[in-house]
Amino acid sequence: MKWSLSLGRVAGIRILVHWTFVLLLGWVAFTEAQRGSDLNTTLLAIGFILAVFFCVVLHELGHALTAKRYGINTKMITLLPIGGVASLEKMPEKPKQELMVALAGPAVNVVIALLLWLILPSLQNMPAEDFFMHITPANFLYMLLFVNVVLVLFNAIPAFPMDGGRVLRALLAFKLGRVRATQIAANLGQLLAIFFVFIGFFYNPFLILIGAFVYFGAYSENIVVQHLDFLRGHTVREGMMTNFVTLAPTDTVRDALDKLLMGAEHEFIVEEEGQVVGTLTRSQLIQAVKNEQMQIPVAQIMTVEVKTFNVHDRLSEAYTELQKSRAPLYPVLENGRLAGVINTDNINEFIMIKSALTH
Ligand SMILES: [Zn+2]
Repeated sequence: MKWSLSLGRVAGIRILVHWTFVLLLGWVAFTEAQRGSDLNTTLLAIGFILAVFFCVVLHELGHALTAKRYGINTKMITLLPIGGVASLEKMPEKPKQELMVALAGPAVNVVIALLLWLILPSLQNMPAEDFFMHITPANFLYMLLFVNVVLVLFNAIPAFPMDGGRVLRALLAFKLGRVRATQIAANLGQLLAIFFVFIGFFYNPFLILIGAFVYFGAYSENIVVQHLDFLRGHTVREGMMTNFVTLAPTDTVRDALDKLLMGAEHEFIVEEEGQVVGTLTRSQLIQAVKNEQMQIPVAQIMTVEVKTFNVHDRLSEAYTELQKSRAPLYPVLENGRLAGVINTDNINEFIMIKSALTH
């Protein structure tokens, strides 16, 4: 995610704050100003938000460090006004592991709440009225305890891909398998997301954001799981294109432009006697035109470091890699020589055909 400020690393995981987080702090300051609060009260309110988000970071670390036990790394944790997002490389596919990873986040908030409950004196002698209206030094930690309890309860809502929804999917997956479990959890997640948005219009605009986040998250994760299921057991060879246009490293930019206009290709493999030496994208070509480099060989502007797949590799692996890297295509090799190319469009066509055949 762009526009994020790095706060440093914990256990190799980057902690980032998205710039929109500033809007949240600004909104808090604005609300306090409208109430006519003095500087100290405003700073305390901002300090409270920061303390809440410190708990959110610990929650996300709970997910990330549990995933690490199963060999899954987390690149970063991003803080958004609506909460934190731990970018795990992937979710564990074993239901038991997903269950543990999903539970670990809220479990951290349970521990924080318990610790606060243990150290704080009982509330019996406190004035009940107005106690929770403003943040004060006297109620700061009580409010933090309260927020942690709310976080646990909110995450218990089975709105996939929120934590509760992941727990639900994992539990369903024990009985129904991952594909069917995801379908059910994602449908329920989308239903609840619509409900969040609806409630959000009346009570809290943050719920609208969370609803949108859940809705599209559920949709895309469901699609990916269904797609990967279609690809199971198939090799890259079955999903690759063998009819494609290549360039020679000595071809000029002008030659490449001709091929770009004549055919349907947007990206080219640069090949020399069956060996892949680079790739060239349409935008690289257009850039060369802008730089008035029409006569130079494509070898000078192509990408030299190219990841390749083997015809025997799993098709699901190529699909996942294409989704992750957003690379337009990958060359496919057989015995070290160029045998085809693979891209997302072609794999999607493969999926379409497979799904049409199975219905
Ligand atoms: Zn969580």
